[in-house]
Amino acid sequence: MKLTVLGATGSIGVSTLDVVARHPDRFEVLALTGHSRVEVLADQCRRFRPAHAVVGGPREAQRLVELLGTESATEVLHGQDALCAVATLPEADAVMAAIVGAAGLPPTLAAARAGKRVLLANKEALVMAGAVFMAEVHRAGALLLPIDSEHNAVFQSMPHGYAGNMARGGVRRVLLTASGGPFRSTPAEALAAVTPEQAVAHPNWSMGRKISVDSATMMNKGLEVIEAHWLFNASADRIEVVIHPQSVIHSLVDYADGSVLAQLGNPDMRTPIAHALAWPERIDSGVAPLDLFAVGQLNFERPDPVRFPCLELAYRALRAEGNAAAVLNAANEVAVGAFLDRELPFLGIAEVIAATLDAVPRAELTDLDSVLEADRQARAAAGKILSRRNGR
Ligand code: NAD
Ligand code: MG
Repeated sequence: MKLTVLGATGSIGVSTLDVVARHPDRFEVLALTGHSRVEVLADQCRRFRPAHAVVGGPREAQRLVELLGTESATEVLHGQDALCAVATLPEADAVMAAIVGAAGLPPTLAAARAGKRVLLANKEALVMAGAVFMAEVHRAGALLLPIDSEHNAVFQSMPHGYAGNMARGGVRRVLLTASGGPFRSTPAEALAAVTPEQAVAHPNWSMGRKISVDSATMMNKGLEVIEAHWLFNASADRIEVVIHPQSVIHSLVDYADGSVLAQLGNPDMRTPIAHALAWPERIDSGVAPLDLFAVGQLNFERPDPVRFPCLELAYRALRAEGNAAAVLNAANEVAVGAFLDRELPFLGIAEVIAATLDAVPRAELTDLDSVLEADRQARAAAGKILSRRNGR
């Protein structure tokens, strides 16, 4: 299988290449992309010898060419068009979509349009553009396989041959598990003062900075509710979030007859990555077998809507339809960026998102341009709200 990895230098990208390296007979790397960590990308290019590598801009491209030397067989490209080009190469069988945030939407959508096997880690693409994205998947006959551990678990627990019809499959509810993040038991008063360092220190998973903050606010679970809606054609009232601090059950499907099927495993993204790379077969991922005796207990709690308002904001955006989820996503990216830059306190993240949802008028999303317009409007509105807060 020939593979393009978008976002190869990130947490998911590195885990993907770890799995790929275990099966040299099975996978060939055709293209790798990274934004700014050019040294990491250069190492990956030396090791996997892709035909193409894409970086953010001309400076990074020049640096990568220098690092690779004149002997290298890797063609170095840069910019959005190049991302879309390597996502749609005729030789590519599969595309790992692991760019973080809205920047991943155009190449991920391009891969779907080209009918590829799309391994979707970039949940923001589906949150922003769900209807447009799924229409392209169906039109082009693309195979969309979820990498997000919860959705991968749901996919594995769904009836065989399931085609998105929950009623026909006898599915009652989708239960998404959540670790609760680093502040699961932090009292409300203490949340006001948490720092970016505390927020990115996740108890169970090692991830990129943005998704780590999303886990701390529980917006990550909110985005995942919207993601589940589009992937499994499930309405908001059929998707429930369950806090499960051990992160061993990755999600569950509740059936009409009372059966509940779940997928379990150690919290390591190489499991869903290997699952989606090899599906419908199974391959070694390098993840240790689950030791239930060491786990000992599995606990469950209800999410606290008072300390974690972001989850409810996501349900609100999902129910509002149209551009609301795209607005939510953009406002979240702006707010998380400001929090990481110490320009917004932790509790301000939800406030900026709520105010942005109120400020941007509802509109229908019909194509990529309308999605990008909603994203642009929301970033502008969130920026203004931030400036006002900070007295600028
Ligand atoms: P990361 O920050 O570690 O890596 C992000 C990747 O995207 C890097 O390769 C970076 O170079 C690239 N990138 C960043 N900005 C870019 C831009 N403007 N243009 C092009 N490329 C850009 O993030 P991650 O944790 O690997 O997450 C990637 C995606 O997978 C996210 O959408 C995240 O929500 C999702 N996800 C991650 C995990 C996890 O365990 N890390 C789990 C589930 C889902
Ligand atoms: Mg997840």
